[in-house]
Amino acid sequence: MTKFRNAVENIHSRFRVPLTLRCECGTIMKLEVCRSQAGYYLGFECQCSGPYSRETDYFRNHDEAQLELEKYRDSVNN
Ligand SMILES: [Zn+2]
Repeated sequence: MTKFRNAVENIHSRFRVPLTLRCECGTIMKLEVCRSQAGYYLGFECQCSGPYSRETDYFRNHDEAQLELEKYRDSVNN
């Protein structure tokens, strides 16, 4: 089983993760592809403090993370 598949299961099983989240500073953050030294993940970031939360495992590259984000958005909207 690929890391990608694991991440899909992870994000769906935990999922009460919203598509948007309000930071303490008042900024509305969107669930997005984020990057750290460990890799790409889906999470929230705010300009006030940088990384806010990580909601998935790490992906190997930006494209995989972006695809997962789009799949998740579709599953929420359906
Ligand atoms: Zn903030």
